[in-house]
Amino acid sequence: MNRRYGSSSTSVDAARTVANHYSARRNQTFEEREVSPIVHLRKLNNWIKSVLIQLYAHRGDVVLDLGCGKGGDLYKWDKAGITYYVGIDIAQGSIQDCHARYTNARFRFPARLICGDIAEMRLDQALADELPFDICSCQFALHYSWTTEARARRAIANISATLRPGGTCIGTIPDANVIIRKLRETRGLCFGNSVYSVRFDEEFSEKKFKSSSPFGIQYMFHLEGVVDCPESLVPFDVFESLVKEYDMELVFVKNFHEFVHHYMKLPKYKEMRTIGVLGGQSTISEDEWEVAYLYLSFVVRKRGQC
Ligand code: SAM
Repeated sequence: MNRRYGSSSTSVDAARTVANHYSARRNQTFEEREVSPIVHLRKLNNWIKSVLIQLYAHRGDVVLDLGCGKGGDLYKWDKAGITYYVGIDIAQGSIQDCHARYTNARFRFPARLICGDIAEMRLDQALADELPFDICSCQFALHYSWTTEARARRAIANISATLRPGGTCIGTIPDANVIIRKLRETRGLCFGNSVYSVRFDEEFSEKKFKSSSPFGIQYMFHLEGVVDCPESLVPFDVFESLVKEYDMELVFVKNFHEFVHHYMKLPKYKEMRTIGVLGGQSTISEDEWEVAYLYLSFVVRKRGQC
């Protein structure tokens, strides 16, 4: 990757690259998933999203899923007893797959699926008839908005504008502190293991990141069989200050390792062992566990009482 996506035209290119990448990804069969070298990581990610949903969703909730992908979380939302679901994704192919999954499974809630860019659309206008939402979920997607300040602001403003007072946003993004630390520990500009790689461009050869330009810090991310596209760092202090600026507050932030250690101890969530991620005969590999360390989960709440 030899380009920086800080300007608005290149940020449009980056968004298109991401949309094309996810659109082209076909659904793997159950058998393919089970033999994948990241099968346990996928289960771990699903478990983390399930715990977040169990912690923050309530029966009867109206849900907005930003970057909903192929609808991998629809079953989790059904289990939570929600009453309405809106899913938005920039990738037309993912929205089509999500639609197929929704219609085939006969979920108990009505749904609307929209193909669009959450960092460009005005969701208060596009969803005017459906507002407000009780809970917003943005799983492994918000960092794609961090290509420019305007896009990051639009994404955060969209979350705030669509939530009811007291409503919650649950999310997962790459952990910028871990990624920068790993970059600095490595000799060159690329690090990774048998299942992933992160590659920064020469312009970051000094491995210094100015706090005055916290947007458009791009790297190429490869995750075996799943991801191959440019991603952006989300410096968490900048994320938190935007959250505050847009009338929300941070409830918690936890790196995935901390999240697992914390919630696995609680009997209610210990099914991690039974779903075969940790502790059983077949367990997560060290290389997959290292990928988990690259991510964090966050929860923010819209100020005010409902
Ligand atoms: N949230 C889903 C999940 O957890 O299974 C999908 C995660 S996938 C890693 C990231 C998704 O974000 C992709 O489906 C991608 O198309 C979507 N995405 C990326 N940038 C987006 C944007 N600007 N607006 C809407 N969706 C976006």
